[in-house]
Amino acid sequence: MTEATSPHPFWLAGREATGDDTLDVTSPWDGRTVGRISVPTPDQVEEAVAAAAAATEKFSATPAHVRAAALDHIGRRLVERTEEIARLISAENGKPIKWARGEVGRCISVFRWASDEARRFNSGEAQRLDSDAGGTGRLALTRRYPHGPVLGIAPFNFPLNLCAHKVAPAIAVGTPIILKPAPATPLSGLLIGELLAETDLPAGSWSVLPVPNDAMPALVQDERLPIISFTGSAPVGWSILDSVPRKRVTLELGGNGAAVVLGDYSSEADLDFAAQRIATFSNYQGGQSCISVQRVIADASVYDRLVPKVVEAIEALATGDPADDATDVGPLVSEDAAQRVESWVQEAVDAGARLLTGGKRDGATYAPTALENVSSETRLGHDEVFGPVVSFTRVDGERAAFEAANDSQFGLQAGVFTHDVQAAFRAHRALEVGGVIIGDVPSYRGDQMPYGGAKQSGVGREGVRYAMEDYTYERVMVLTGL
Ligand code: NAD
Repeated sequence: MTEATSPHPFWLAGREATGDDTLDVTSPWDGRTVGRISVPTPDQVEEAVAAAAAATEKFSATPAHVRAAALDHIGRRLVERTEEIARLISAENGKPIKWARGEVGRCISVFRWASDEARRFNSGEAQRLDSDAGGTGRLALTRRYPHGPVLGIAPFNFPLNLCAHKVAPAIAVGTPIILKPAPATPLSGLLIGELLAETDLPAGSWSVLPVPNDAMPALVQDERLPIISFTGSAPVGWSILDSVPRKRVTLELGGNGAAVVLGDYSSEADLDFAAQRIATFSNYQGGQSCISVQRVIADASVYDRLVPKVVEAIEALATGDPADDATDVGPLVSEDAAQRVESWVQEAVDAGARLLTGGKRDGATYAPTALENVSSETRLGHDEVFGPVVSFTRVDGERAAFEAANDSQFGLQAGVFTHDVQAAFRAHRALEVGGVIIGDVPSYRGDQMPYGGAKQSGVGREGVRYAMEDYTYERVMVLTGL
């Protein structure tokens, strides 16, 4: 994308700009420099915020067809540039290329849905008020208006699509956005800036700023940015909400997703399917997904047949160069991340867990790993591992399975393998999560559906339409004398 010697500019109020400092983006696979980006100065950040505030009225008044056309344009350009962009994601993030292509595909859908929603949005609602004597001759009209500019903060693990989830709904409702990509993976976010620059959205309505973490608290506090949409780790997310309790803050945070296998899911074909899905989705992207399978909770009647199948499927995964089409599991985002995962597994083993496979590290690559008897006192037992590690728990019956799944500080999504439709409804009622996936792992996210967490996994919902609602509020106009 860029020569290591010429820093890649960022996007300030719709135009390219460079600051005084630079940041190197390196491949977690082989340490090569993938790009060097320019970092904005505090004055440039101030300029972007002032421009966003100044653009608010004009952007809100931009016709829906103009905003929809811009969103369509970005979707089309992503289609044309899919392979190149997938290679970029894979290079800066270490994500296997096949998963990176999938991420671009999802991002295309996000922009297309946003375009459709932009056309539909804000037709409004009329309500007669004369059903009550005081409302005689009155009519209420309801429309939604943006709160004001959005600060969108994105993590490293889906560096393109999670930036899209911040930007596309903002354009769809016509509210300015300042996008802040993750320090390890800023190139994908800047690429969205490149595509935005090809549209004729009003100057000032968008910026992509790789602001250093130590400058973020001031930006978070800035009163000209009333909406914060944050995706990332729980400690950072909750500290943001604590620091600005009066702002509207959406937090899409971590999890330690459970896949529950109930006793009726017991044929050879059932268990083969469940084992494949669990093996794949505890390890895809090195387990660095907020809805990765970290815990498998299996009924005692199927446990002894399921576990060896999962271990066999895990051992069949190809670990290696993320640029290789055959690779299933690449490196973690950094060697530090792999060392942390290694230490958590060691702590669990020291506390009595049994290692069934894996448990080895080579630089930033951690081998797909499975354990049983993991103590809930250990970090692996109660925290988010964000690595290719899965643990098994044996339970007796459905109630115990749901209790075990709920025995977590997190509540993002859960998967339940069952054929029993009534058990599916009982799971939906019992599980304290934002989404229950029946017949599959917790790792499915449809980008149009409401997505978000319960408990420590966050507040608010994303999914194009739900983010659009979050970015706006209802304003009523009452007509009198009718
Ligand atoms: P992180 O919390 O370290 O960083 C997320 C973003 O916050 C980055 O852009 C970072 O630069 C920024 N940031 C750091 N300090 C900040 C501060 N004080 N104020 C404001 N912003 C600050 O998370 P990460 O390591 O990039 O991502 C991994 C985490 O994200 C995991 O916990 C994962 O579960 C979670 N995640 C959640 C979802 C979801 O939709 N629920 C999706 C993907 C990832």
